[in-house]
Amino acid sequence: MITFKRYLNRNIYYLFLIIYAVSMPLKSNEDFYEIYKYLHQNPELSLQEFETTKYLEGLLEEYGYEIITNIGGNGFAAILKNGGNKTVLFRADMDALPIKEETGISFESIKTTKQNGMDVPIMHACGHDIHMTSLIGTAEYFSKNKDSWKGTIVFILQPAEEIGFGARQMINAGLFKKIPYPDINLALHVSAQTQSGTVHITPGFAMANVDSVDVTFYGEGGHGAYPHLTKDPIVMSSQFITTVQTIVSRNLSPINAGVVTVGSIHGGTKHNIIPNHVDLQITVRSYSDEDRELIISRIKKIAESIAIQNDLPKNLYPIVKLRDEYTPAVFNNPDLAMRAKEILSKELGKEKVFDGPQVMGGEDFGQFGRVEPKIPSLLFWIGAVSQKDYKEFLNNSKKLPSLHSSKFLPDYEKTIDTGISSSIALIEAHLN
Ligand SMILES: [Zn+2]
Ligand SMILES: [Zn+2]
Repeated sequence: MITFKRYLNRNIYYLFLIIYAVSMPLKSNEDFYEIYKYLHQNPELSLQEFETTKYLEGLLEEYGYEIITNIGGNGFAAILKNGGNKTVLFRADMDALPIKEETGISFESIKTTKQNGMDVPIMHACGHDIHMTSLIGTAEYFSKNKDSWKGTIVFILQPAEEIGFGARQMINAGLFKKIPYPDINLALHVSAQTQSGTVHITPGFAMANVDSVDVTFYGEGGHGAYPHLTKDPIVMSSQFITTVQTIVSRNLSPINAGVVTVGSIHGGTKHNIIPNHVDLQITVRSYSDEDRELIISRIKKIAESIAIQNDLPKNLYPIVKLRDEYTPAVFNNPDLAMRAKEILSKELGKEKVFDGPQVMGGEDFGQFGRVEPKIPSLLFWIGAVSQKDYKEFLNNSKKLPSLHSSKFLPDYEKTIDTGISSSIALIEAHLN
């Protein structure tokens, strides 16, 4: 005979089983791992995300999302309305990189594309395949569990993140006129330096303003043995390169961060010829709009002052060109960041959620929050390093490949699980 207590226990067990089955997404995480593998093996470069777009649109349409296609090229939105009055935007980026994968995994990408007659290898070396898979898992959950939430969810699938172009392109194509206006914007990015299963969040400025500046120094070329008869642009650019390093150390507040890196210098053809010009390429990083303007204006002034020092005629003054490739800083709304940390601590466990460092890398997700009226935004990081690799890294027996490395291989199962569960938790918390 079963006791009443045991009868109750058994029925509570069945009751939980039923609740679990009803609330569970129809797809198991195994299915999402297959989606991940498909995306991983079929990467596409920035502005070429044609098949990726088609594939993801198909899945989201199947889940009942309203698809708004072709927003700024391959970008699209997938919208699910379920009463309520709150709206969350969640973005994933779709593009991959021209890198030959060297992870040795069974589902390694061997895809190439033709560019200028050459075969260019392609790899999801920035984890955007994880981002897309997490979005799909999250989207499926909300479509199958409409009883547990009210509101509107807008998923944004963005092209061309790696060239800092896609977000701007979608906004210029009228994104915010085509979708319900969001109360908050969310996105995640994998981290190649932290353990899978963990999440980290940086309140405030999290990633930098990115600017590309081209500088050309002109001179009057001639024989290397008769420098007094020339104006030497190589010496001028050398003066310039060392002087621009004083911008961050002398002009920027020591409390603020900035970077001025001259990444490319090209000039001259031979030992004994002073050339007519030298071309420099500079990456500039900053956080605030004011610091950005300060650094760029100092670069211009320093270039001009070197021309004056060298008695150049006005028509040979250096040309400083700010490229139209600006990516604004990612600013994580501090309140949103604090709330997200609380929510994710509950979801994943307190020990799995921590404050992340600010970085000077760039991400064009920041664009989505800078529209008028401004939208509080948050980009959080999910760890992608397996426990084993992380242990070996801690005892100095292993280096962790960075993002954009041909050897970057996320611990995909745990990383996707965390991507999906943290995205669901944050969206649901905001809507309810
Ligand atoms: Zn990247
Ligand atoms: Zn990325």
